[in-house]
Amino acid sequence: MDEQVAELAETLVEADGVTVLTGAGASAASGVPTFRGDGGIWGSEFAVENFTLDRFERDPRGFWEDRLELHDRMFGDVSGPNEAHRALAWLEELGVVDAVVTQNTDGLHREAGTQRLVELHGDASRSVCVECENAVSTEDALAAVRAGDAPPSCPEFGCEGHLRPDVVLYGEDLSEAAYGSARRLAWESDVLLVVGSSMTVEPAASLPVEAAERGELAVFDAAETAKDHLADYVVRGDAAETLPALVEAVQAQMPGMEKARSTREATRVR
Ligand SMILES: [Zn+2]
Repeated sequence: MDEQVAELAETLVEADGVTVLTGAGASAASGVPTFRGDGGIWGSEFAVENFTLDRFERDPRGFWEDRLELHDRMFGDVSGPNEAHRALAWLEELGVVDAVVTQNTDGLHREAGTQRLVELHGDASRSVCVECENAVSTEDALAAVRAGDAPPSCPEFGCEGHLRPDVVLYGEDLSEAAYGSARRLAWESDVLLVVGSSMTVEPAASLPVEAAERGELAVFDAAETAKDHLADYVVRGDAAETLPALVEAVQAQMPGMEKARSTREATRVR
């Protein structure tokens, strides 16, 4: 791993544009369960069919009652951003990373300080009215569901719409703005760094293919991914350990940086 990380660090420091794409693996150390794969909650605990756009439109009350359970399972044990989130925010601050595109809806990149962030699948902490697009906190919406008022209604005076989570539901298209930004960022970048994504769901499946054709692709993942064969760099391990190692390697490449300062300390002072 060390040699790959050192080489990648050199590439990142010299690159004109670096975009990061993250998936569930980036949040694993924060206690967010994964959807797919071993230990994933789809299939074992929750049925995908209950969380589709179709279900929401047909049965908003049942959808929200199930969503409450899913939300508690997803975010009930979350401990906040982990070292992977902090390392990416720090790389942005160092001017090495330009933007983070994430498949996660947990908001942890923002909490860690990432400024330029594209949330492909939305933000689970927010809910919006289907009629007037008024946005409210999902905690407030869930409080209404817990009190037996499902689907939660829009608080806007005179609006009779109800709320939905501000996330992309199964069977629903991505927001064109988010998708367009992700494509453009990947297009403008010399390097695409993919962290903790199996890259099996679009557009996370095709962005690395295009990136590998145009520039360089780096994959940080605990397990083998569908795109390892296209990657110039493959680093195995928990992102909460491998990304801080990358930060240290990057700092070693940048003149004037305090090499002695560990990543942990460097991120803590932010
Ligand atoms: Zn409304």
